[in-house]
Amino acid sequence: MTNETQATRELTVVNHWIGGKHYAGPTERWGDVFNPATGESSTRVAFASEKVVDEAVKVAAAAQKKWGAASLAQRTRVMFAFRQLLEKHKVEMAALITREHGKVASDALGEVNRGLEVVEFACGLPQLLKGEFSENVSTDVDSYSIRQALGVVAGITPFNFPAMVPMWMYPLAIACGNAFILKPSEKDPSAANFSAKLLREAGLPAGVFSVVHGDKLAVAAILHHPGIAAVSFVGSTPIARYIYETGTRAGKRVQALGGAKNHMVVLPDADMDLAADSAVSAGFGSAGERCMAISALVAVGDAAERLLPKIQERMAKLKVGPGNEAGADMGPLVTREHHSRVKGYVDKGESEGARLLVDGRTLKVKGHEDGYFLGPCLFDQVTRDMNIYKDEIFGPVLSVVRAKTYDEALGLVNDNPWANGVAIFTNDGGAARRFQNEVQVGMVGINVPIPVPMAYYSFGGWKSSLFGDSHVHGKEGVHFYTRGKVVTSRWPQPHHRGVNLGFPQMK
Ligand code: NAD
Repeated sequence: MTNETQATRELTVVNHWIGGKHYAGPTERWGDVFNPATGESSTRVAFASEKVVDEAVKVAAAAQKKWGAASLAQRTRVMFAFRQLLEKHKVEMAALITREHGKVASDALGEVNRGLEVVEFACGLPQLLKGEFSENVSTDVDSYSIRQALGVVAGITPFNFPAMVPMWMYPLAIACGNAFILKPSEKDPSAANFSAKLLREAGLPAGVFSVVHGDKLAVAAILHHPGIAAVSFVGSTPIARYIYETGTRAGKRVQALGGAKNHMVVLPDADMDLAADSAVSAGFGSAGERCMAISALVAVGDAAERLLPKIQERMAKLKVGPGNEAGADMGPLVTREHHSRVKGYVDKGESEGARLLVDGRTLKVKGHEDGYFLGPCLFDQVTRDMNIYKDEIFGPVLSVVRAKTYDEALGLVNDNPWANGVAIFTNDGGAARRFQNEVQVGMVGINVPIPVPMAYYSFGGWKSSLFGDSHVHGKEGVHFYTRGKVVTSRWPQPHHRGVNLGFPQMK
């Protein structure tokens, strides 16, 4: 018995969600959604035109007027109810993710749980929206600050976390009083509609949360729509750059999180068992399709000699199979095209002269011969000029690069154009502290391979891993979805009277 439930069997057509219900208007373009474990198409997804996006914005704008004026108590009450519903239905949501993304059930559930954290953070939003008040900034004059919603905002999200990444955005945007339009990945669109239904059930007024599905046409319509005030994006670096440049040119506030090439530096004094466990978990979890996956392991000094046998030993025990099958550690890649691309990188690594210690290309999963499975692969002797080092592979391929010293390892990390996450493994507190200070990366792990911040901190990389000023969720998320206003106020007193053309000064 798998955890596939009614929700996963019924959804064969995924349409937009506008005005609190499935879109009933005409759809000219559709996309196919595949089950990566079987290679079969199980679902069709509607692709939005400019007209559909415009309809969604109009509905959202009308709904936002009321929602923005709703009390903090009313808004957070919806978040509390949504939290309860998500908790109740999280296994169903995870099953939808497994069916369309391919990741194993426990991993899909982990993603929903990490998204839930942001919903819980949004339940406490009144605390974060509190302004400041200064009494008597001048005689009998007070001054205070407030933060207000932007209006209609949009989120464009990637395939690899179809529930969690949107949840980095919409709980905060909505709790702040905005209406939110989500354009999820067309590769695994069902989790977005599932969230929409739960939000509605939680009491969110129709139109405050909408989903428009589609591809680059829907994205372009969002970026150019004058009714959308801000766009949050998560995806690959070239698209993140395009979103940032196009969106800001259209006058929008934009935060665009891009791709990654995360390094794990292992110093010779590290706990090698912990480092091996971590490299395998972070390198092959979710088949390497995580923006925080470790893809380059930098072994310093003689660390590689002791570490590599331990990594290989652990890799040999990994079970690759359909995500809904008990005991599977790693599922398939998301699409046939992506599978060929990642496999192509393994071919390339060999021809570039790296040593392929573990070759996952020959793996066959019995009964799932048409699934997009690739076994875990391990390269040693990778150098910085090789494409397998330079490019984001986004698959189960771990590259070991050797460095003679800490400085050489740090140089590798800091020279890399991406700067999402990084980890150092060492038992030397001084070395770890030095690294945390010197490394130019947004999220740092010390003996922690995937340092994804909790909801009450903000998530984001540096350099080509993020375009814009704000990271997502935490205080920066609240800041992104609101605008500041400062009020200076007085209640007329006799000493306020009299014409004075001078610039106002405090008395
Ligand atoms: P992607 O960039 O291909 O797609 C992301 C979104 O952009 C999707 O909604 C997609 O429909 C849309 N899109 C794709 N091509 C477009 C185009 N030409 N014009 C306009 N819109 C377009 O990314 P993906 O393959 O879905 O996700 C994987 C990538 O996302 C990886 O690079 C990964 O590192 C990155 N990612 C980053 C983070 C982070 O926090 N920095 C988190 C998750 C994923």
